[in-house]
Amino acid sequence: MILVTGATGQLGRVVIDHLLEQGHAGQVAALVRDEGKAADLKAKGVDVRVGEYDDVASLDGAMKGAEQVLLISGTEMDAAKSLRQHANVVDAAKRAGVRFIAYTGRAMRGPSATETELMRGHFKTEDLIRESGMTYALFRNALYLESITYFIGKGRSHPGQQATFETDIRLPTDHGKVAYALRIELGEGIANALHQDRGEDRVYTLTAGEAWSFDDVAQALGELSGKPVTYTPTDKATFDAQMRERGVPEAMARVFYGFYCDIRDGQLDEVTPELEGLLGRKPASLKAGLKALFNL
Ligand code: NAP
Repeated sequence: MILVTGATGQLGRVVIDHLLEQGHAGQVAALVRDEGKAADLKAKGVDVRVGEYDDVASLDGAMKGAEQVLLISGTEMDAAKSLRQHANVVDAAKRAGVRFIAYTGRAMRGPSATETELMRGHFKTEDLIRESGMTYALFRNALYLESITYFIGKGRSHPGQQATFETDIRLPTDHGKVAYALRIELGEGIANALHQDRGEDRVYTLTAGEAWSFDDVAQALGELSGKPVTYTPTDKATFDAQMRERGVPEAMARVFYGFYCDIRDGQLDEVTPELEGLLGRKPASLKAGLKALFNL
């Protein structure tokens, strides 16, 4: 039995769908914090278990009978709390005698150069897993290509709402590049890796086969839409003013700025063939991803 956490989230659902397609029906359990969001999972025969990363007793209950756990990183923005939540899941898995644990972290050059404490938390969670004694797979996921809709989207993208983009893109990322991957392809790759589990410790860095800057994003959007799209790197003061204008709370703006600094500093530009290897095909290019995301 494999227990997938974050199962009512976007990545978790994709992983579960692919595990079911690969013939794991009857062997998939889902940790969800809101059972009301899990009717579709139940309908697919998934064993839905209610639990919360903060609630140790619920995690102990949810782990019963699990041999493998996929811990999908949570959405908590407080770095210390997020790490504590992940530690709770790792500890509960260990207590329950889980044989194998996998974790979805982030593809970044390294913890020492990363700007945000939240990102460093991924490396700290990986350390907890390595120290746990369980066999592990660490999935270091590229920045989602879907994130671009938030970085340059006009009205921001919500499910069911068509994403639109700024034609005058201004961000403090200089000419830093990112090897973006589509969330659906990351989920498929993760499911394939879990399916192929050989009982060995593995670290996967899952990225596109190329890295792209916002100059490339602007060029691709221009070609796809037939409209002039420009990208101008900005400095921190301009970025802060933009955030204030949009009413983004200061703490949130600081986190965003950290993400952008990581891009500027080349933290996210590593390219590996590992996602292609797991998918058995090339991951989507920037242009193909933007075409799909913005319906161009
Ligand atoms: P998502 O759609 O927001 O899903 C996150 C899942 O985690 C949800 O199912 C959520 O439960 C669950 N969760 C959050 N806090 C929890 C808690 N305290 N206890 C139990 N479950 C909890 O995110 P996603 O797109 O699937 O991405 C998965 C993770 O990747 C995110 O959580 C985040 O850590 C990370 N991430 C990566 C990127 C990237 O670019 N690679 C970008 C953004 C985030 P509910 O369904 O009840 O909300």
